[in-house]
Amino acid sequence: MPEDHLNSYMTGPDDQGRFGLFGGRFVSETLMPLILELEERYEFAKTDPGFWAEMHDLWTHYVGRPSPLYHAERMTAHLGGAKIYMKRDELNHTGAHKINNVLGQIILARRMGKTRIIAETGAGQHGVATATVCAKFGLTCVVYMGAHDVERQAPNVFRMRLLGATVIPVTSGRGTLKDAMNDALRDWVTNVRDTFYCIGTVAGPHPYPAMVRDFQSIIGKEARQQMQDREGRLPDTIIAAIGGGSNAMGLFYPFLDDTSVRIIGVEAGGKGVDARMEHCASLTGGRPGVLHGNRTYLLQDEDGQILEGYSISAGLDYPGIGPEHSWLHDVGRAEYVSITDAEALEAFQLCCALEGIIPALEPSHALAHVMKIAPGLPKDHLIIMNMCGRGDKDIFTVAKHLGFDMKI
Ligand SMILES: *Cc1c(COP(=O)(O)O)cnc(C)c1O
Repeated sequence: MPEDHLNSYMTGPDDQGRFGLFGGRFVSETLMPLILELEERYEFAKTDPGFWAEMHDLWTHYVGRPSPLYHAERMTAHLGGAKIYMKRDELNHTGAHKINNVLGQIILARRMGKTRIIAETGAGQHGVATATVCAKFGLTCVVYMGAHDVERQAPNVFRMRLLGATVIPVTSGRGTLKDAMNDALRDWVTNVRDTFYCIGTVAGPHPYPAMVRDFQSIIGKEARQQMQDREGRLPDTIIAAIGGGSNAMGLFYPFLDDTSVRIIGVEAGGKGVDARMEHCASLTGGRPGVLHGNRTYLLQDEDGQILEGYSISAGLDYPGIGPEHSWLHDVGRAEYVSITDAEALEAFQLCCALEGIIPALEPSHALAHVMKIAPGLPKDHLIIMNMCGRGDKDIFTVAKHLGFDMKI
């Protein structure tokens, strides 16, 4: 057990929002009162049974939870080793885990009397989830998106507009996710009174990393119970893909103190984790720095300039990683590996062919790592991989890489 958390890996962050050397709140003085108000209101909501009752009602009737824990029989037989289960969060409304967290933040925003929700989005998945929940509650929704991403992700831009959101293309910097995050923070300071900033992963200044983790932990809580119901015991290994790290933290958190459970996070290795930096593996290929209000492992050059990173999967294309992962990495409770584009593409196709499930490219990275380790493990070794998103959004990318002409 780590020295600063004598009995548990689950007690972080401390009251400064730090997980060991990571996290915290590196924000301007003007933002500080907003962050402190949010922290206070979240601390209150967290212990309010009424808040969680509202969450569970919407998780059940709007999102479709609990998501199944599915025994992937043909995948298991094909790999010939460990018994593979998939946590089916791709079956959620809007097709991924993002809505678990967005619902939590928007219910909190409503309780705080906020009527305007802002968000930043890269690939557009978090923007779509936010626009969805805003439509449901009749809230104004403004989504900041890098101008470059607006072009690359036209279908999600259109979805957000159909759902009533205003999408603002960000042209500052290089017009990508990092610049959209800065503009969202600026908007927040300017519109203090009525605005709530809804962050899409376990990043940002405290209390966001802990709050988003708490909302996503429904994944791990369900999986832990479902595995006990199915197999009468805990899994041996749990695996999830990492962009900012929210679906992974959601699966991992309820298992952190079950030290018999091996925990593996899978980063996007792009074209390979080497000096050319054509990857998004912040832990395996980056070093600590400050971005988006917290200290964590980041992709950066020798002068500390944040690098864009690259992955076939737009959702893994985040230059940092949530601070709790950085801490879990440094204390050795979780392992972090990387998977290349080519390996993920292979896993994507195998999942379609063997299980009748078209996975998103993000969880295809987690599945690719399962494919590496499962054959060498005994048949009674239980693996859970988080199927955090469905692949409908990715078929055009995959078609292009497989040389398939989609023009009709
Ligand atoms: C956004 C997204 C991710 C990456 O975000 P995390 O915070 O790391 O979970 C992964 N998978 C899917 C399907 C996504 O939409």
